[in-house]
Amino acid sequence: MDSLDQLKIQASTCVKCSLSQTRTNSVFSRGNPKARIMFIGEAPGKNEDLEGKPFVGRSGQLLDKLIKQEMTMEPEQCYVANVVKCRPPDNRDPKPEEVQSCFGYLEGQLNWVQPSVIVTLGNWASRTLLETNQGITQIRGKLYPFGSSILIPTYHPAAALRGRGEVLAQMRSDFAKAKQVMEANG
Ligand code: SF4
Repeated sequence: MDSLDQLKIQASTCVKCSLSQTRTNSVFSRGNPKARIMFIGEAPGKNEDLEGKPFVGRSGQLLDKLIKQEMTMEPEQCYVANVVKCRPPDNRDPKPEEVQSCFGYLEGQLNWVQPSVIVTLGNWASRTLLETNQGITQIRGKLYPFGSSILIPTYHPAAALRGRGEVLAQMRSDFAKAKQVMEANG
């Protein structure tokens, strides 16, 4: 068993923060642990909590569609996770103390996967990883060094589902850019 598996098992029984009291399942990841690209969202929603997998609802379907159409990749070739592994009640934003308790799991995932490109999905995940107060409309589509990776923020798929076509068009552009950066980085 490698350490990524061990981390997943630890997260499945983790009680380091109060989200453990309301979750159905902790939600660790889906996809290829040897992926060159990693997508990171905020926290599990209702469907993810029930299934124990990230991005399995309508947002996940759109994520997979964009991976296929704009990156000509299969979703299984990518690694997908959230910053926080257990669902916050009523889909509220995770609290700082919950992020602090949980962040070690994401750090472990980043260390094991070592993606060349990270795409953060949505305002909250992007701002948390980049430690910035700038909003997603200002930072999306730009390239940020992040350890040995390049981080590219984009919108959360849910924003494209409920928003204007412009959001989806910008997401398509950001996904295509992520593919170019991944290819340029060998
Ligand atoms: S959110 Fe993270 S730190 Fe909190 S209980 Fe779940 S796995 Fe543990």
